[in-house]
Amino acid sequence: MSIGVAILGSTGSIGCSTLQVLGRQRDRFRVAALTAHSNADLLQRQAAEWKPAYVGLVNGGSGVGARGSGVACLVEAATHPDVEIVVNAIVGAAGLEATLAALRAGKRVALANKETLVMAGELVTRTARECGGEIVPVDSEHSAVLQCVTGRQSAELARLILTASGGPFRTWTPERVAGATVDEALRHPTWKMGKKITVDSATLVNKALEVIEAHFLFGLPYDAVEVVVHPQSVVHAFVEFVDGSVLAQVGFPTMELPILYALTHPVRVPDAGTRRFDPVVAGTLTFEPVSSDLYPAYGLGRTAAATGGTAATAFNAANEVAVELFLDGKIRFGRIGETIARVLDAHHAGDAATLEAVLVADAEARRLAREAACR
Ligand code: NDP
Ligand code: MG
Repeated sequence: MSIGVAILGSTGSIGCSTLQVLGRQRDRFRVAALTAHSNADLLQRQAAEWKPAYVGLVNGGSGVGARGSGVACLVEAATHPDVEIVVNAIVGAAGLEATLAALRAGKRVALANKETLVMAGELVTRTARECGGEIVPVDSEHSAVLQCVTGRQSAELARLILTASGGPFRTWTPERVAGATVDEALRHPTWKMGKKITVDSATLVNKALEVIEAHFLFGLPYDAVEVVVHPQSVVHAFVEFVDGSVLAQVGFPTMELPILYALTHPVRVPDAGTRRFDPVVAGTLTFEPVSSDLYPAYGLGRTAAATGGTAATAFNAANEVAVELFLDGKIRFGRIGETIARVLDAHHAGDAATLEAVLVADAEARRLAREAACR
């Protein structure tokens, strides 16, 4: 019997890559549910090819062949009886309730939607623990860590080092970066991804989100989660064990491998589709420290993480608002970090243990961010 997979955000970069992977694994998996936000055309084509039991369009309705609509369709897809694994490939806070619902129903969540682990890490991990659900990361760095630690005890783990490409502005001066255009920010050197995460890679907010994600997934304190800039994106993460030994996971940058692993973990299955690794082609690999002048927002994220509670919720919300304003041409690139800083200054971090507390902090930070960004 094949395993039923729901893809929330099937029309996005991760969603489409997931369908690519599933296209080569048809005897193992079937597509049981698909959802999109507003790209009805692509969703319809995907549904025609894969014939899932459930199709949902958040911003549309049943007129385009979708069976569910509105935000409720995300939870309906995530908890559908035909679904065993939920790939959450939604961008931003909108993915939270579906993740919680899937975990409550005891399902595996293959999580690309890192924002929701940042905004509500305590709540999401507790829900998984209490309800028998499972969170398996899709993010390449976290997949790399998981691949290195599978079969080990958590007490054997000493330190994680996540790699960051450094984005398109790695060799720029901070002054030039502050005035970067949308086109420049969207020119990522090694990965082809959705717009929001591409901007997050240029500010390195993405890596701050990933540090928080790693903390919640692997249970390490923040001072044991480090980041190094590695422009070639071949080494995805290093894991240091208590005896000093270090393992790394390597490969040419592609999301298809971590997506497949999130579906099959802890087992590995043959896949003819991914480009085979060749160290000679990979060539020289270089590593450098993160420059705090070039990526001020990264430091803000780490500080919010260390503060704990709703500080990470506010960090994520402020960033989501600022990135949207930047992509809409309303603020300059440098204003993203400034907006986050202002929101964190004004935010009184509280307990982030309940959904209500998280949603209140999220809404408040969004309001502050809109105010701060345009001041
Ligand atoms: P995209 O912008 O390419 O895709 C986002 C998907 O989510 C689309 O299907 C979109 O639907 C849907 N969506 C957007 N807003 C909403 C909403 N409010 N409610 C429901 N659905 C919504 O993003 P990516 O695929 O790049 O990223 C998805 C997630 O994966 C992010 O959290 C990102 O950080 C993470 N990630 C991405 C990587 C990548 O390589 N792209 C790598 C690692 C992590 P529609 O098309 O209809 O608008
Ligand atoms: Mg990543």
